[in-house]
Amino acid sequence: MEGEIMNGNKETLIKNVNLVDVREAAIKEKQNILISDGKIIDIGPSLSGTKTEVHVIDGNDNFLIPGMADLHVHLNWNGGIDPKSTLAKEGPKIGIIRAYKNAMDHLKIGVTSLLDVGSVDDLAIDLAAAIRQGVIFGPELYATGRIICIIGGHGAGLGYEISGKDDALRATRNLIKNGADLLKISATSGAYGSYGAEKLESIQLDPEEIKTITSEASKYKIKVTAHALNLEGIKNCVENGVEVIHHGAFMDKDTARRMAQKGIVYVPTLLVYKKLAEDVPGVMPEAIKKAKEVAKHHKEAFLNAIDAGVKIAGGTDAYSPNFGDIPRLIDEAILMSEYGMANIDVLRSITINAAKVLGNENRTGTLEVGKDANLVFLKNDPIKDIRNLTQQRQVIFRGREVYG
Ligand SMILES: [Zn+2]
Repeated sequence: MEGEIMNGNKETLIKNVNLVDVREAAIKEKQNILISDGKIIDIGPSLSGTKTEVHVIDGNDNFLIPGMADLHVHLNWNGGIDPKSTLAKEGPKIGIIRAYKNAMDHLKIGVTSLLDVGSVDDLAIDLAAAIRQGVIFGPELYATGRIICIIGGHGAGLGYEISGKDDALRATRNLIKNGADLLKISATSGAYGSYGAEKLESIQLDPEEIKTITSEASKYKIKVTAHALNLEGIKNCVENGVEVIHHGAFMDKDTARRMAQKGIVYVPTLLVYKKLAEDVPGVMPEAIKKAKEVAKHHKEAFLNAIDAGVKIAGGTDAYSPNFGDIPRLIDEAILMSEYGMANIDVLRSITINAAKVLGNENRTGTLEVGKDANLVFLKNDPIKDIRNLTQQRQVIFRGREVYG
């Protein structure tokens, strides 16, 4: 599953690759890359190793992109017809093992950073800690723990259900105490939910509750990300300190402009509602109905965001109902391209833009000297055709070769 750990006496030299420079929208042809201690230490047209032992990889004219990032996963779910019930039956202990398997499946296709935005018992926070402490080998994982939502609100199954400002403050402080890297709130209802509050047109958390959460989190420089579908809920987030808006299916032009002005990032998650809208037996019928409504408006919102110059970052909602038990970031990237986003911007959204949200852009998101050696080898140029992301030859994470 993993290659050798590169130690101080060893280097890896990758020869003859074309680097995809996502920042400059350019291909740097026929380059070599030198890796030591998991970092890129040199890039150039003709390099040789400096240490006694140099492991040489022939890049075969492949195109190299930086490791990708998915900012919206629920690793404890299974992507089946009703993941919430499955998790409730299995319990959080199996949930955390499943979460690890799902995280590793991402790493194998080159998704080297993940943001889990909702897990039962905050289990993704513990998984992230186990990976960081080196208890287990895995991708770079960030986690919000439970979702802060109203009583019976969206995400209640993975939620921290609150009522009022005192509760909002308590939830914020408890999640930060537990080690949340970012916080996730539900500003509106969603498609998948069983309680009475899940009406597509309704807001859920009040503006005052949102403000309480964001101002407390900002004391510790912790970002608040939000699930928001309808326009009123999106506006409540935009005006009350939320830094990342997920889904945003009913975002209008004015609100998109406001988001661009304020530097609020948009994670569209286009594919998940399309998949949920499929009439698959066993999936909650009202979720299918609502997803159809969302999917109808989603493309327009996405194009509004692009026109207004909103920063867009990649995310999928992987493992939610009827979404399958596989990573979906590449499928999402293909759909973003089909809906009209330039391929280079799609690539930026799943690399450098996502890295900025996670705060790890000093180490990830681009292929540059000094950054982590997180590399995905592609047979063909993804700027020409985004579907080339599917034709992978190899993944390297922090200098280690990752095997399927
Ligand atoms: Zn989600």
